[in-house]
Amino acid sequence: MISRRGILFIVSGPSGAGKTTLSDAALRTFEEGLELSVSCTTRAPRPGERDGVEYHFVSEAGFDEMVASNALGEWALVHGYRYGTPRAPIEKAIAEGRDILLDIDVQGAEQIKLVYPDSVSVFLLPPDRATLEARLRGRGTDDEATVLRRLRNACREIASAPAYDFIVVNTDRDDAIKQFVSILRGQRARTRHMTQEGLRELVASFGEPAAAETA
Ligand code: 5GP
Repeated sequence: MISRRGILFIVSGPSGAGKTTLSDAALRTFEEGLELSVSCTTRAPRPGERDGVEYHFVSEAGFDEMVASNALGEWALVHGYRYGTPRAPIEKAIAEGRDILLDIDVQGAEQIKLVYPDSVSVFLLPPDRATLEARLRGRGTDDEATVLRRLRNACREIASAPAYDFIVVNTDRDDAIKQFVSILRGQRARTRHMTQEGLRELVASFGEPAAAETA
């Protein structure tokens, strides 16, 4: 295998676009070669969520401390709560040649692109407006004002899609998974993610041109 740095993949999109489905499929496909970044958040855990698995659940003071000590690679206010990406696991993954996937919002993606210009961003979209609305309505238990607020937020996020490196429209689940996995696989073959040393070694392993001529 050619020596390379780990790639930082960002996935964003409105809720219901299928970010979790695609991330899970990619994690199963690439196994130890890809890990999911576990964000910190000030929001309370939902039923079934475990601290350190879905998120690191922290207090407002705990979050302040992480911001002050520069422990976060980015952070943003989303739906009234703060969310941030711990910097250490990102740096470790990149250095060790493992890829890392960040499921973050558009504000976070913008910051990560500035700090890590080699990161690769993917925006995930539902097939159309009607599907977006149906998915945001969920089980139909939320009041109209809540649904409209979600819809407004989703449309605001979608307006940032053109700034992403890739857009995947999730019309068919299996097709979307294939596209997403292909994007990740393609990036792994890019020379810009390989190390200079790895590239030199690769070329050298085929021998000197002079040796080939005399063979
Ligand atoms: P939820 O609370 O429903 O799990 O996530 C709400 C939103 O926060 C999602 O759009 C998700 O992508 C975003 N989010 C989760 N973790 C982070 C993070 O570390 N940074 C930023 N900027 N957004 C995040």
